[in-house]
Amino acid sequence: MENRTPTSIFTDQDQAMANAIEQVLLNTRHRLCIWHLEQNAITRFGALKKDKEFKYASNQCLKMCVTEQEFEAKWQAMMQKYELTTHSWSENTNHAIGFRASKATTLTKFNTIFKKTINRWRSIEKYDEFTCSKLIAFTSLPLSGMLKHAAQVFTLSLFRDFEEEFGYSMATTVQMIGRNEECLLYQVALEDKPWSAHQVNYIHESHNVWCTCKNFEASGWLCYHCIRILHLHSVTRIPDKYVSKRWTKFAKTEAWDRLKNQDPTHQYIPWRQTMIRKYYNLILKSQENEETREFMEESFTKQS
Ligand SMILES: [Zn+2]
Repeated sequence: MENRTPTSIFTDQDQAMANAIEQVLLNTRHRLCIWHLEQNAITRFGALKKDKEFKYASNQCLKMCVTEQEFEAKWQAMMQKYELTTHSWSENTNHAIGFRASKATTLTKFNTIFKKTINRWRSIEKYDEFTCSKLIAFTSLPLSGMLKHAAQVFTLSLFRDFEEEFGYSMATTVQMIGRNEECLLYQVALEDKPWSAHQVNYIHESHNVWCTCKNFEASGWLCYHCIRILHLHSVTRIPDKYVSKRWTKFAKTEAWDRLKNQDPTHQYIPWRQTMIRKYYNLILKSQENEETREFMEESFTKQS
């Protein structure tokens, strides 16, 4: 990671990880994965999970709140209505990545599982990289403007997400609800779902967009609200600041280039580690005998 900390980190509700992140990744924002929250809800809420009204209320809390206050109010109301204030919610093993270790797994077994998991990830990554570099995404929409730009820069799977947002953006209605010297404020909603409305701030000069749904901050690609507003202003390329490097086809090459330029002694790391191991073994072997200890110290003085 080149000693860089991530901006955001997503975990499921593991308290040990939450504590560690707070201590080690001081400037990283710790978020809970919404997919896990939903999965956990299925197993934790018992009979309630079949209650349509409850499902609606919990969905409102998870996905439809814009501000913290709004969330707290809806959450409290739900907890009280369904008498959940004393309901405990414990952590869940992460099955999503197929990492099947448990409390009883020995360290050696854990290491084997870990290596296998990493190998599986690497092989998927290689395959994805190959397909990404060879293909330009196929889409049933006309490949022009921002969509064309997205196909050129994003990885295939990210392009699919962007394409979906782009599709939604065409089904929205827009209303200007405010303006000042530099900034325009719009309300964007899906045609048939007025309750889905979000507000988008747009600054023409810098092509800055900011949406109350905060999709870009959470996921790294623009939401359909923002895309609609950029489109409205005839922007035909995704502004650079909204192309997160990590989602592009060039992410890996760039990371390697940075690594090479950053520290020319990087290439010696494997050699250094081998030598450290060899010398350490020598020290361990010689520690119990006075003669060998002296010999080691003499050799060291001579060398330095
Ligand atoms: Zn949005």
